[in-house]
Amino acid sequence: MVKLPIYMDNHATTPLDPRVLDAMMPFFKDQFGNAASRNHKFGWEAEQAVEAARKQIAGLIGADPREIVITSGATESDNLALKGVAGMYREKGDHIITAVTEHKAILDTCKHLEKEGVRVTFLPVASNGLIDLDDLKKAITDKTILISIMHANNEVGVLQDIREIGRIARERGVLFHTDATQSIGKVPFNVNELNVDIASMSAHKMYGPKGVGALYVRRRNPRVLLTPIIDGGGHERGMRSGTLNVPGIVGFGKAAEIAAQELPQESARTFALRERLRTTMERELDELYINGDMQNRLPGNLNMSFAFVEGESLLMGINDIAVSSGSACTSASLEPSYVLKALGVGEDLAHTSIRFGIGRFNTEEEVDYVANRVIETVRRLRELSPLYEMFKEGIDLKTVHWATEN
Ligand SMILES: *Cc1c(COP(=O)(O)O)cnc(C)c1O
Repeated sequence: MVKLPIYMDNHATTPLDPRVLDAMMPFFKDQFGNAASRNHKFGWEAEQAVEAARKQIAGLIGADPREIVITSGATESDNLALKGVAGMYREKGDHIITAVTEHKAILDTCKHLEKEGVRVTFLPVASNGLIDLDDLKKAITDKTILISIMHANNEVGVLQDIREIGRIARERGVLFHTDATQSIGKVPFNVNELNVDIASMSAHKMYGPKGVGALYVRRRNPRVLLTPIIDGGGHERGMRSGTLNVPGIVGFGKAAEIAAQELPQESARTFALRERLRTTMERELDELYINGDMQNRLPGNLNMSFAFVEGESLLMGINDIAVSSGSACTSASLEPSYVLKALGVGEDLAHTSIRFGIGRFNTEEEVDYVANRVIETVRRLRELSPLYEMFKEGIDLKTVHWATEN
């Protein structure tokens, strides 16, 4: 029997790998030193551990350790990237290009910058979730200082062609930042092969601890300079002051090392599980819609809408499984996800969408359990649905005149 509840929401956060916890433990106990203490063994040990972790993090993305700025997570990394470039390159220009499907850490930072006079272009996406590279080229002006396009989307798992985006940026002399929080450790990511100048990442999306992340900042060709958003003490080469979270950083390093070693096997394994989940549901149910491109996609992501069911009832029916829905609770109502909206998914289908996030610790048994629970629940709900009955009888629902309509 599988152990319940089942965790299948690995885009929200990932469980801590036990090997990561083991690596962290000494730094909560005897090795508690401040990495900035230069006068004694406690400090030296902490600094050594941080530098070893920095090497592991850099190694995962093909960077130099000196290009890794430790932060509190990807939200801070995104803030530092955008505000740091906007501040440092103000003389050069005042225009940033991003996309409508970015994480709120990017979108809200852009809105903040707009209030300070920065102009932001929010590129649309096609129904597969990808931006149009011609749109991008057309949006670049001689005032453009930064292009910020995420690698993998956190809802639909779609992978943008960042190698090409980076190439376009470089050709035009514009810096390129990517929020790679969802992709690093899941798919190959090399800052040089992908033409990336600045990249955000977070430990808790790759089986490390919460509250620690990093910003990759290129040192040469081009050398990127950032205005800090946190001052005091001059840690992290002046780009991010504050006493370092030594246990967290050690855990992040270990998580990066494991990811680098196990990435090929792990991505093949999560891909196989994802496909097993998808094909089982597609075999047993009709009227399923996949959101986002199936080719350019994270191996462990499946985002699917189930027509003719009610979103909340569906989630209630599978409440021993942790997944995310395409609706977000706002103060008054259920709002469909802005990402699905941007892909052109209708409100009904957005409300009945589920994001399955398969990760390192999911098993085949769990996938089978989840598939069966979803299949049972959707069948049961559709048996109660007059709309589904009409659909099965071949009535075109668009032509039906409802009594309540005028
Ligand atoms: C989770 C996530 C973030 C925020 O990361 P934190 O470390 O939780 O602040 C930013 N961007 C993307 C794409 C994410 O998935």
